[in-house]
Amino acid sequence: MQVLTSPDSVRAFREALPSDMHMGFVPTMGALHDGHLSLVRASQQQNDITIVSIFVNPLQFSPSEDFSNYPRTWDKDRQLLEAEGVDAVFLPSGDDMYPEPLITTVAVAQAFSSRACGAFRPNHFEGVATVVLKLFQMVGPCNAYFGLKDYQQFILIKHMIRDFNLPATLVGLPTRREEDGLAMSSRNTKLTPEDRELAPAIYKTLLKIRDRLLAGNGAYNPAEVFDSFCRELANVSNQFRVQYLQCYDRNFEPITEMVEGDCVLVAAVYLGDVRLIDNILF
Ligand code: AMP
Repeated sequence: MQVLTSPDSVRAFREALPSDMHMGFVPTMGALHDGHLSLVRASQQQNDITIVSIFVNPLQFSPSEDFSNYPRTWDKDRQLLEAEGVDAVFLPSGDDMYPEPLITTVAVAQAFSSRACGAFRPNHFEGVATVVLKLFQMVGPCNAYFGLKDYQQFILIKHMIRDFNLPATLVGLPTRREEDGLAMSSRNTKLTPEDRELAPAIYKTLLKIRDRLLAGNGAYNPAEVFDSFCRELANVSNQFRVQYLQCYDRNFEPITEMVEGDCVLVAAVYLGDVRLIDNILF
């Protein structure tokens, strides 16, 4: 496995390959788990070469967020990627990614960035779009593998590829879960043992809310749905702090009524200072 540390080395790696080779690209922030590895495996099945990037992107964290505390487990990540037979991993430094002064970044329409995660994470999606655009520029034409776990991010990247005519084909893969239903996430390692026990209730409660919505003949009352999600979780424990629970159509556009097969129910919930997100498509 080649370990590439500079943008130039990624370009050189790409340019040394025959031009008809299919490249699979898996961008991550590391602290790899089976969710990430499911993207890696899909990429390997569908491409000649797979490159994984690991970069904890400062631009997508706001000052109050957990950038410095975000898990970094390079030695273990390296072993996992080597065991998967990945061809190359790109591990840039912050300075290489963002030479000072940073003058240009990607803008995201307010209508989009004011929804769900965006409403609570100022400039988060601008940071995501900027880093992914930069990575796409370095990697070149590729099939790009993203998880549906970060559904709003997935839709953002889908838009950006179209809006900027990027030579990337987006592939979305389903959320991998622990046996108890908790969506796999690098942040799960930050949960206390007590909170880890509680965390699967988030997905279980999402399933309940989905079933209620499905039984409601298309009616969608955002405040009512939010309240019942909060009440259900409060019945499990007073440790849950719900940030949002919202329903959108599958393009992440607001809805006034639900159309089965075209909905995503998205939630963000804190346990202690760990922010967990999850969603269900239905
Ligand atoms: P991250 O390292 O959190 O930025 O995630 C890198 C990629 O892995 C993103 O496309 C995520 O959506 C995806 N991912 C994270 N967790 C999961 C999961 N549990 N199942 C599937 N994909 C995931």
